[in-house]
Amino acid sequence: MSATGKPIDNTYLLRLLPSVDELIEDLRGSEEDTPSGAALAEAAREAIEGRRRRILAGGAAHNGDVLTDAAAGAGDTEAVRAALRGEIIGEAWDILTDARTTDLRHVINATGIVLHTNLGRAPLSEAAQRALIDVSRSYSNLEYDLEAGRRGGRSGAVEALLRKLTGAEAAVVVNNNAAAVMFAIRMMAEGREVVVSRGELVEIGGSFRIPDIMAQSGARMVEVGATNKTHVSDYENAIGPDTALLLKVHTSNFRVVGFTEEVPREELTALAHARGIPVLEDLGSGCFVNPPGIPDEPTVAASVEAGVDLITLSGDKLLGGPQAGIIVGKAAWVDRLKKHPMMRALRLDKLTLAALEATLRAYLDPERAMREVPALRMLAEDATATGARAEALLTTLGKEAAQKLSAEVIDTTGRVGGGAMPLAELKSRALALSPQNISADRLDALLREAGPPVVARIHEDRLLIDMRCVIDDEIGQLAEILKGLADQAG
Ligand SMILES: *Cc1c(COP(=O)(O)O)cnc(C)c1O
Repeated sequence: MSATGKPIDNTYLLRLLPSVDELIEDLRGSEEDTPSGAALAEAAREAIEGRRRRILAGGAAHNGDVLTDAAAGAGDTEAVRAALRGEIIGEAWDILTDARTTDLRHVINATGIVLHTNLGRAPLSEAAQRALIDVSRSYSNLEYDLEAGRRGGRSGAVEALLRKLTGAEAAVVVNNNAAAVMFAIRMMAEGREVVVSRGELVEIGGSFRIPDIMAQSGARMVEVGATNKTHVSDYENAIGPDTALLLKVHTSNFRVVGFTEEVPREELTALAHARGIPVLEDLGSGCFVNPPGIPDEPTVAASVEAGVDLITLSGDKLLGGPQAGIIVGKAAWVDRLKKHPMMRALRLDKLTLAALEATLRAYLDPERAMREVPALRMLAEDATATGARAEALLTTLGKEAAQKLSAEVIDTTGRVGGGAMPLAELKSRALALSPQNISADRLDALLREAGPPVVARIHEDRLLIDMRCVIDDEIGQLAEILKGLADQAG
C-alpha cells in the first residue's frame, strides 16, 4: 500500500526496476577501493533479483520499507523509479560490504562470564596476539631447527615450557582437551577396561560425555562407587586382568555437596602402580596458578606431584590461551602418544602453537601472568576495579543519554564460565539500563545488532552491562553504541 492507501501495481513497479548495467554504472567509482567489474555485476544482479522477488511476493514488503510512498501515491513515475534505483544501489552496497565482512568477528562480552564458551572462551594476551601475527605474516621455523639448519620438531618450545611449569617429565599438545582425553584413553586402554568413579561421569556440554568418549576410544568403561562417594576399595575391587587404566575426571561444571568422598590422587596412584596400571586424569580447566579471590582449583603441578601418569587439560579455560589440549606426564606414555598414528590428525597448527607458547611464557613469572593473561586478570579483578569501568562508561555516555536509558551502576555477580568453578560468584559491577520506551528484550536484540555486537544479560527486566569482561578499549565503543540507541529508548 502507498501512503495514500492506493495499492501499488506489481507490474508497474517491475517496469521501473533499473537494469544491471545502470546499476553497475552507479556503483562504479563511488568508492576508492572499487570492487572488480565481475563483483559489481554479481552484486547488481543479486540486488535487482532480490527486489524483483519481493515485488512479486507483494504486500508491504516491497513498498513500506523502500518506496517513497509519497511518490508512488502521487503517481509520480520518475520519482518512484529514482527511489527504487536509490534503494537497490544501497542493497547492492550492502551485498558488497557483506562479502568483505567476516561472519566470525569481535563482540563485546558484557555478560560477566569470563570463559564464555559461546563467545570464544579466553581472550588472548597481547603477547599471544603478537606471536600469532608474527608467525602468520610470512614463514616461520615451525618444523625447522635454525641452529642445525635442518628439519626440526614442531612443538619443542611449548613442550619445554610445559615441563618447566608443571614439573612433568614430558608434554605433548593436541587440538583440544576433548581430543586429548580420547587420544590418551585410546592409546592406554583400547580394547580393554577403564575404571572410573560414578561421581565423575561428567557431561561437558556439546557432546562430551565421559561414557561416550570411552566408547569412542574403544575402551570398556567399568563404573565404581556411588554418585556421592567412591572409596579406594571400590577401585581395588574392580581391577581385574583386563584393567588397563584408572581414570580420574575433574567434575569441572558441577559440585556434589554434603555426604561426599573421593579418593585422593596419591592413594589412587599408589593403588594403580602397585597393580601395574597407570592413572589418567582429565583436569578440565587445569589451573597453573590460582587467581586470588577465587576458590582453589587443583593445579597441574599437584597432579604431577601425586604421580598421575598422564594429565589432560584445556588451553583456553583457566590457562587463558588458545584452544588446545595439553597432555603432560610420564615420558614413556607421552612418547607413545607422539608415535601414535592419531598424533598427525590431532596436531596443532602454527597459529595456535605461537599463541600457546606466548601464553605459557607469561607463566614463568606468575605475577606477570596475573597481569598479562586477560582471563586471569578478569577473574582476579575486584568489584571496585570493575565498578571504575562502569563509572567510566557512564561518564563517557554523558548525562542526556544516561537519563534516556535510565542508566545506573549496580552491584551484580559474574561467573567463571567455561564449565569451571560452578559455585564461584565473582562480585562485579554493571551498568543497568531500564529505558521507558523500549523493553529489555528489545534493547538486548538491538545491542546484538550493533557494531561491534554487544552480548549483555537481562535481570529483573533490566538490561545489565557487566563490566568485568569489557576491556578498556571497548568502553568508548560501548558508549557510542548506547548513545545511538538512547533516542529510541527514552
Ligand atoms: C572442558 C572440559 C573438557 C573438554 O575440553 P575442551 O578443551 O573444551 O575440548 C573435557 N573434560 C573436562 C573435565 C572439562 O572440563
